[in-house]
Amino acid sequence: MATGILALQGSFNDHRKSLELLDKEYVLIKDNGDLKNIDSLILPGGESTSMIKIQEESELFDSLKKLINDGIPTLGTCAGLILLAKDVLDGSVSLGLLDCVVERNAYGRQNESFEGLVKFNNNSQMYCFIRAPKIISARHNVKNVAQLDDEIVGIQENNIVGLCFHPELTNDENYLNWLNNFIVEGNNVRSF
Ligand code: GLN
Repeated sequence: MATGILALQGSFNDHRKSLELLDKEYVLIKDNGDLKNIDSLILPGGESTSMIKIQEESELFDSLKKLINDGIPTLGTCAGLILLAKDVLDGSVSLGLLDCVVERNAYGRQNESFEGLVKFNNNSQMYCFIRAPKIISARHNVKNVAQLDDEIVGIQENNIVGLCFHPELTNDENYLNWLNNFIVEGNNVRSF
């Protein structure tokens, strides 16, 4: 079995590097045929509107939805979080599985992208926010798992984790340990 990385567009190669560092199997997902041996899933950052458009004519998102609903550990970073969210301000709902409202591009334009000190998995680390979405609200069944100052920048609902930032660009030890537990062994991330 392997971790599937959605590879329509965006930073899928960086997630590939994370899994290579962990010496784990992965499959790049471009269509339904790539989903056969997947037992965990990563939805990368990039441009959610492009990803939605690219798969529009296919049934890929229906199949992903089914896999995620069946409970496979699923990590969405940035655009990946937008794909997962049930409610999207200034954008479209696609997979609609994570019970939160996100606002696309809420920190500003490309040149307002920044690095910030994030508390994630009981550790503080600088992470990149690139035209990142903000988590505007989340339902009570959704845990807060990452924080930037007093803002929530990561959430988890059962098997789904959504992060506003890009840990795959840092690949620090804390993130890789967490990824190993969550994606590969299916363990839960710590909440606040
Ligand atoms: N702004 C992008 C979007 O709306 C997300 C940016 C990212 O993934 N770094 O999809």
